Order: sequence, then C-alpha cells, then structure tokens
Amino acid sequence: MPIQRPHILLFGPPGAGKSTQSALLVRKWPLVALSTGKLLREEVAQGTAIGAQVRDTLARGQLVPDDMMIDIIRIWLAQLPPDKGFLLDGFPRTVRQAQALDGLLAEAKRPLTAVIKLNLSVSEAVARLGGRRICYGAGPEEIIHINDEAAVARCIQRGGLLVQRPDDLPNAIVNRLAVHDAETEPLMDFYRPAGLTHVVDAVGAPEDIARRIIAAVEGMVPRP
Ligand code: ADP
Repeated sequence: MPIQRPHILLFGPPGAGKSTQSALLVRKWPLVALSTGKLLREEVAQGTAIGAQVRDTLARGQLVPDDMMIDIIRIWLAQLPPDKGFLLDGFPRTVRQAQALDGLLAEAKRPLTAVIKLNLSVSEAVARLGGRRICYGAGPEEIIHINDEAAVARCIQRGGLLVQRPDDLPNAIVNRLAVHDAETEPLMDFYRPAGLTHVVDAVGAPEDIARRIIAAVEGMVPRP
C-alpha cells in the first residue's frame, strides 16, 4: 500500500539541503513541513521575545536550549491538522529532544514513518555553506551560491542584494558542523533500533535527491 501521510524526520549536516528537499517533498504528500531553523530566524527578523533570546545563539551556530525547542514543537504538533502528515527539518537535534518528541508523538498517536539522513562530506558542506547567499529584496528570497554566476547576475539585475546568513560565516560554520557531529549525528543510533533510519546521498540534482528520499520512505530500498 502506498504511503498516504508519512511522518518524516529529515537529518543531515548543515548544508545538506534539508529545506530544499522539504519544499520538494510537500508536493508529493499532503504534509505540513516545519524547519525549526527557519522558524527561529523569522522570530529574530520579527524582533519577537523568542527572537531576542535566540539571536546570538543562532549567529554563533550553537543550539537553542532543549526546553524552548520542545515547547515550540509541542504547540506546533497540537495544531497539526489530523488529515496531514508532517516533515520536521531541524528537530530533534539532541537525544533529549528526540525523547521528548517520542512522548509527544505517542500521545498524539502519530508514529514516525521514516528518519532520513542526507549524507554529505564535510568538505562539500563547507563549500556549500561558505558560498551560500540569499538574494534579498528582489521578490521571494532565493538561495544561491556565489559560484553560480548566472544566478548572481540575475539577482543584481533585479535590484536584489546578496546577503549572507550570520551563521554561514566561518566560525559559525565550524561550530555548526561540530554541534551536528556531537549532538545530532548520534540520533541515527537512537532511531536505528526501531528500523526507521535511511541514509540518502545528498549530492546531485535536488529532484534526484527527492526521488531517493521518496523511494526510501516508500520502503523501496533496503535500509543500511
Ligand atoms: P542548519 O541545519 O543548516 O545549521 P537550520 O536552519 O536547521 O540550519 O538551523 C539554524 C540554527 O537554528 C541552528 O544552528 C540552531 O542554532 C537553531 N536550531 C534549529 N533547530 C534547533 C533545534 N531543534 N534545537 C536547537 N537549536 C536549533
């Protein structure tokens, strides 16, 4: 039976393309997707109380406290329409967050379908993050790479500005990769016993990577 409304966790080092994939996967299934990083950046941009609390932590590339994240997810899950699946990108990021999520999902009777890890080498992650810019002020924000000369020219011609996320500066990139290795990578061990984990190669065209994820979620490829 094809999967109708999966409950997916998307993992991977910074730069692996979690948000790009999230945007493609919501076209495949009726899913509500949440990027906790994006949500926190919006809080910062809007100058909310949460934004003020997390701004420096984000800019350093460190993790926001577990309790704050767990509260955010609790509220988000409570509002999730019953006829939709979900995709979480950026949560959980620590074992404590994963344990809390397990409890919340058991209460909501929404078991996980798949835990997908996007696999990317450190050198590729650094190259992607270091060159990542956001074309800002020329219609919807677009993520581009400084090596993509055509995209850079298009942005400038449309009057856009190329801005860099504060956590894409070198020190923050180093922190984010270290935090990912120390805190988030162990989550694959946390979920493996339940038979939920799949590793997907994060190099290639976004549509190809999405096809790999869909195949993994639908159980068409053997799990490692
Ligand atoms: P990336 O995965 O590329 O580092 P994200 O956009 O997912 O970027 O997250 C950006 C930042 O938001 C993280 O470095 C961290 O400071 C904060 N953040 C996002 N999700 C969480 C979480 N679940 N727990 C703690 N901090 C988080």
